Amino acid sequence: MTKPCIICVAITGSLPQKSDNPAVPITVAEQIESTHAAFEAGASIVHAHVRNADGSPSSDPEKFARLKEELETHCPGMILQFSTGGRSGAGETRGAMLSLRPDMASLSVGSNNFPTRVYENPPNLVDWLAAEMRAHEVKPEIEAFDLSHILKAKDMADQGHLLGTPYVQFVMGVKNAMPVDRDVFYYYIHTVKRLFGPDAPWCAAGIGRHQITLNEWAVAAGGHARTGLEDNVRLDRDTLAPSNAALVRRVVEICARHARPVATCAEARQMLGLRTTCLADGKAA
Ligand SMILES: [Zn+2]
Repeated sequence: MTKPCIICVAITGSLPQKSDNPAVPITVAEQIESTHAAFEAGASIVHAHVRNADGSPSSDPEKFARLKEELETHCPGMILQFSTGGRSGAGETRGAMLSLRPDMASLSVGSNNFPTRVYENPPNLVDWLAAEMRAHEVKPEIEAFDLSHILKAKDMADQGHLLGTPYVQFVMGVKNAMPVDRDVFYYYIHTVKRLFGPDAPWCAAGIGRHQITLNEWAVAAGGHARTGLEDNVRLDRDTLAPSNAALVRRVVEICARHARPVATCAEARQMLGLRTTCLADGKAA
C-alpha cells in the first residue's frame, strides 16, 4: 500500500480545557504555535475551532480570520479546515466564517446523540451550510457519525449541493453515537467505495483512547487519519499527550509500519481536489 496518508490534526475542539491537558491551545497565538509543530511533524490538514479567552467555544469570524492569516504565513500550503460543528454556536452562526474561504470546513449532515445531549443538525441548517460552502468554494468534510450520514452525502452530491466528490470522515467512539466497531468500520468503507467510486478518499477519527485504534485501522485500510487534542488528550492511560505534534508523530509511526508515505500538503490538496494556487509547500516530498 503506497498511497500517501493525509494526516489531519484537530488542534483544539470545543470541549477540552487546560485543566484536562495544559497543551490544549486556546488562544490564537497558542493555536499557531501548536499547529506549526504539528505541520512540521507531518500534518497536512488542520481542523480548527476557536475559543473565547475563558476557554468557552466561539464562532467569532474575527478570530477565525486572524487564525487563517497567521496559519497561511507560518504553515504555507497547509490545508485549513474550519469547524461548523454544533458545539460552537447555534444555527447560522456556525457558518459565519465560511466567507473567509478556508480550503475546507466540516459538515455534519444529520443529527445523533452526544454524551449528554442531542447533536442537532436540522435539514434546513445542513442545506444552508452546504450552500454557503458551495458559494465560497469551501470543500466540505462530511462528518459521518452514522451510516445514514454517508448516504445523505450521496444524496446531496447527486443534487449538486456539494463541491466535488464527498470526503467522508467516519467518527467512532463518541458516547451514545456509533461505537468503535470493526464490522461497521469496514461497512463504512464498502459504502463509500460503492457510492463514490473505488478511489474515493476517506478518513477516520476515534475519540479518547480509541483515537489510536482508528488511526491504525484507517492507515492499514488505505484511508486517511485524524488525530489531535480535540479528540484525545492522552498518549495512554497514565500519560497526557505533550502536544498536538506528539499525536501526529504517533500517526507518522503507524504510517511507517504500514509502508504508507505521509502526504505532503501538495499531495493532500491533489487527492482531495482542492485549490492548488498555493505554490509554497513547506515540506519535502
Ligand atoms: Zn471539531
